[in-house]
Amino acid sequence: MELERLLKTRFGYTEFKPGQKQVISSILAGNHTLAMLPTGTGKSLCYQLPGLILKGQVLIISPLLSLMQDQVEQFKRFGEKRVVALNSFLSATEKNVVLNRLSNYKYIFISPEMLKVPFIIRKLQELSISLFVVDEAHCISQWGYDFRPDYSKLGDVREKLRNPLTLALTATATKKVRDDILKSLGITDVTKVESSIDRPNIAFHVEEIRDYHEKEKRVLELVKRLEKPGIIYFSSKKAADQMAALLNEHSDCRTSSYHGGMDPNSRILIQQQFIHNQLDIICATSAFGMGVNKENIRFIIHFHMPMQMESYLQEIGRAGRDGLPSVAILLFSPGDEILPIQLAESELPAEQQIDWLFHKLLQDMQSGESLLKPELREQGGFSELQWRLLQNFLEQLPDNFSELEDLKGTLKAYVYERLTVKRNNIYRMKKWVESKTCRRQGVLEYFDETLSDRPESCCDICGFDLHNYHAANKPTKMTEADETWQMYLTKLLNSL
Ligand code: ADP
Repeated sequence: MELERLLKTRFGYTEFKPGQKQVISSILAGNHTLAMLPTGTGKSLCYQLPGLILKGQVLIISPLLSLMQDQVEQFKRFGEKRVVALNSFLSATEKNVVLNRLSNYKYIFISPEMLKVPFIIRKLQELSISLFVVDEAHCISQWGYDFRPDYSKLGDVREKLRNPLTLALTATATKKVRDDILKSLGITDVTKVESSIDRPNIAFHVEEIRDYHEKEKRVLELVKRLEKPGIIYFSSKKAADQMAALLNEHSDCRTSSYHGGMDPNSRILIQQQFIHNQLDIICATSAFGMGVNKENIRFIIHFHMPMQMESYLQEIGRAGRDGLPSVAILLFSPGDEILPIQLAESELPAEQQIDWLFHKLLQDMQSGESLLKPELREQGGFSELQWRLLQNFLEQLPDNFSELEDLKGTLKAYVYERLTVKRNNIYRMKKWVESKTCRRQGVLEYFDETLSDRPESCCDICGFDLHNYHAANKPTKMTEADETWQMYLTKLLNSL
């Protein structure tokens, strides 16, 4: 009853969403907890609410800077001012001010790279941390699709903070990844709250299309008939821009593209316009969606095959949060796996680049320098992502030849292993696309679940008919009215 009262008085919600109460009760009973709850189920509340009851501070490790800012804003909306985010957005002065009054905060968000700084660890050791929260915990596991080397060190951090009560949160993790999370954090005794990843109100439809051009035509056809709003995902920024332009030109859907190449202000504006129904369709890369809590998204189309089942599930999971019928459509052309493979390879440094870099490092070492000089990034043609990985790996350079050689070997082995994991993920995704068995069952199996209740609108293999679905979702009268109006306008224009 006490929990319900707090939920109402402090957060303004009338009831818990599925899974929330189990997680909160488990934490309050003093159990380490691993919660796998779908995106949008309100995972944040699982540490926000216990924080009001627990005595000490809540430390939340979060890998995404933008999401961290959103969370801080969310706290402030609930009237909670004792919250701070320690990340690279803070200037050196601001950081010092915050660190000097850390014990005044109740909720401390921190990025994993900040936890590498010994001084910050010492500051955290002075606190009494009552809950250690690892958000997006799948980033810990190298089997996870979004492995972050910094995250794999969280077990050490936890130990340095005297192994506080821990909550690991994720939306999508296979059993192997979940096991890895616990092992890496050094937790043996744990309560698991794992809700099914199935979303019965989302029907699956996979369609093979001859080529890129035909796909564009098919998208145009689809968006004219499907109920909106919707999101179309692309693996390339250029393709997202092109499709948005095409839709604006040839349909009456209010469309915008969205990707990491846009400036932050435009991105915020587009996101807000979509949330407030001023846009019908977003043509986006995977950069779009985190923190977009829009209930009524009716379709998700994948123009390109995603790199792994986890991101596919996250992306389609943005549809139908209101529980109403929605559809996930994946368009597939032969050879579509090449793009994700190229993308996966481009995220990691190539073997020749590693050889070149170590040759340079050796030269520097011989002239008495042992650090990773920033100018090497441009000289070696490393992307931002590749450079970040190298910085992580080469944080402390050895000062002798044989250790440097060893490090090169370790780095190459690491890159090889990551590529194998990524290629394997793409291969499994392709197998799912080409499979002739139930799509829903296939998704569930990937996450070690079995399908118990097959919804009526399940998938194309199980007889879900996209054509009839259009009809069912669009009132006939409207269609006729639309057509009459369009015919009238065409006649009028033709007569001019
Ligand atoms: P997640 O991290 O699981 O994707 P969030 O914590 O961002 O989800 O919450 C998603 C949305 O649900 C937010 O707008 C949040 O305010 C809302 N929410 C959380 N808990 C409840 C609840 N018990 N009742 C209604 N809305 C809730």
